Amino acid sequence: MSDAVDPAIVGTLIAVRDNAYAPYSQHPVGAMVESESGARFVGANVEVAHYKGLCAEASAIAAMVSAGERRLRSVFVIGPGEHLCSPCGDCRQRIREFADAETRILVLDAQGGLLKRYTIDELLPDAFGPENLGQ
Ligand SMILES: [Zn+2]
Repeated sequence: MSDAVDPAIVGTLIAVRDNAYAPYSQHPVGAMVESESGARFVGANVEVAHYKGLCAEASAIAAMVSAGERRLRSVFVIGPGEHLCSPCGDCRQRIREFADAETRILVLDAQGGLLKRYTIDELLPDAFGPENLGQ
């Protein structure tokens, strides 16, 4: 990929990934979302013993919504390895709820190198969304 991710963002992502609670999967993930106002919200994955854990992206989106923001400008995800830690199906739908065609979703390797960049239409084509319910 051509564009590098801002080192300050990478530092934030690594710090939040370090706070992940992932004793079962040993797969810590960090996420940061930027809302349309430019505010940034972070989240880490939070696992629980019954295995119905919370993904990092869902955690960050919950923080954004809890702060009263509703539109995603950017979503950054950093996993623990060199493989693509792209959002899971549930998170794709969650991102879809607050994304538009301009929203960028960036997936980074463990050191913060950009692996891949998506739009929500690429991640979840022909998605069911708020428009389907008349919203
Ligand atoms: Zn997920």
